[in-house]
Amino acid sequence: MTELKLPTAVGQLIERLERAGFETYAVGGCVRDCLLSRTPEDWDLCTAALPEQILALFAEYGPIPTGLSHGTVTVPFDGTAYEITPFRTESGYADGRHPDRVLFGCTLEEDLARRDFTVNAMAYHPLRGLIDPFGGRQDLKARLLRCVGDPSRRFGEDALRLLRGVRFLALFGLTVEPDTAAALHELAPTVVRTAPERLLPELLKLLCAPHAETALSEFSDLLFAILPELAAQKDFPQNTPHHYLDIWRHTLAVLSTSPPTPALRLAALLHDVAKPLCATVDAEGISHFKGHPVRGAEAADAILRRLRCSNTLRERVVSLVLLHDERTKPTLPAVRRLMARVPPSMLEELFALQRADVAGQAPDRRPEKLARISAVEALSRQVLERELCCSLAQLAVSGDDLLALGSSRGPALGTLLNRLLEAVMDEQVENDREALLRQAALWLSES
Ligand code: ATP
Ligand code: MG
Repeated sequence: MTELKLPTAVGQLIERLERAGFETYAVGGCVRDCLLSRTPEDWDLCTAALPEQILALFAEYGPIPTGLSHGTVTVPFDGTAYEITPFRTESGYADGRHPDRVLFGCTLEEDLARRDFTVNAMAYHPLRGLIDPFGGRQDLKARLLRCVGDPSRRFGEDALRLLRGVRFLALFGLTVEPDTAAALHELAPTVVRTAPERLLPELLKLLCAPHAETALSEFSDLLFAILPELAAQKDFPQNTPHHYLDIWRHTLAVLSTSPPTPALRLAALLHDVAKPLCATVDAEGISHFKGHPVRGAEAADAILRRLRCSNTLRERVVSLVLLHDERTKPTLPAVRRLMARVPPSMLEELFALQRADVAGQAPDRRPEKLARISAVEALSRQVLERELCCSLAQLAVSGDDLLALGSSRGPALGTLLNRLLEAVMDEQVENDREALLRQAALWLSES
């Protein structure tokens, strides 16, 4: 018998339900992850108990009826929240995203049959072992992603499964069984039926997965259905000495070399989104993409709003897209000017994105480009360590000081303050109160 190691708390939950007469199993992702020798993120249980029975049995722990229509009850137990769901079947799916009817009181096998992929349709019990009616274990061994049942029907029921499928490829480096792959391609355009609240979390997991490049390359049609703005990148040539890949191949290369965080992977995916729109070819046949960071930032903003992305993540990604092509000179004044625009918390991400961008460019020019980024990074560290002034807040004079000197209020005051800041960053004036007042008085007398 296959033996999996369940956490003690999971064993206790199962035992309590079983002692009350309800068959109960660990199910889905946690069983799959154990068989892959990965640590599951969460442990889900399925049980013959009905929602009210689960609520009553764990009343002392303050159970929460999380998904009423699905019957899921979340039980806070031993410091973790466990989802316990009654065995259920589903039918209907008129809208391609929700079942019209959910029926409780069925068998474990029927419950497993409603799950998306064979590798996700296994259950485990400490005494009864692995329950695997659809050959999930065999598929996992063969590294195959296969729908439970007829792929077209299963993707038609819930379009999110299309994206989940590609997410599992990207996570585990699976290949797709031919019928499942054909249905995935055929139904890719229907992914837009998915509610954005369900779509974005799956998309982020996919983008941050280790095999994202391969998965997105094979199923670019699915990604382009979600982000039609990217479709024009495919096979779009970049005839410049800086590039050796078309825009889409370059984007995938940048994505796969970016650190796997949502902000960086999204920024990598979208950094060149406006390149096809901005493309021109000069008399020598060389491609130019003038203005693509600005237009790209606008497009990224619109895309992330459409996907109902949080404001914090959206703003971060939009800034990274806007700044990705900034080629700051490795001099203190230039680096200080960059730091006047980019908060320290974002600098590290910007350098990571720029390095990944270089990794997707022509190999012969990479060393000099990487050297520039490293030099700028070293200078930025120096600026932080020496607390060199890069913002009006750090300037040794205030607006009130300048008013006292006779500056007028309004825009003139702002202009004067910024002129002083620039002179400080350019090392023409020291960030010292007396020196700044002298300089300001001089400029005021000249105007
Ligand atoms: P993760 O490791 O990211 O949690 P997971 O497979 O556990 O992956 P969950 O969203 O936690 O994903 O879902 C738990 C289980 O519920 C899945 O393993 C699968 O059996 C089933 N499931 C989830 N979403 C769907 C869906 N859209 N259609 C069918 N079955 C699903
Ligand atoms: Mg899970």
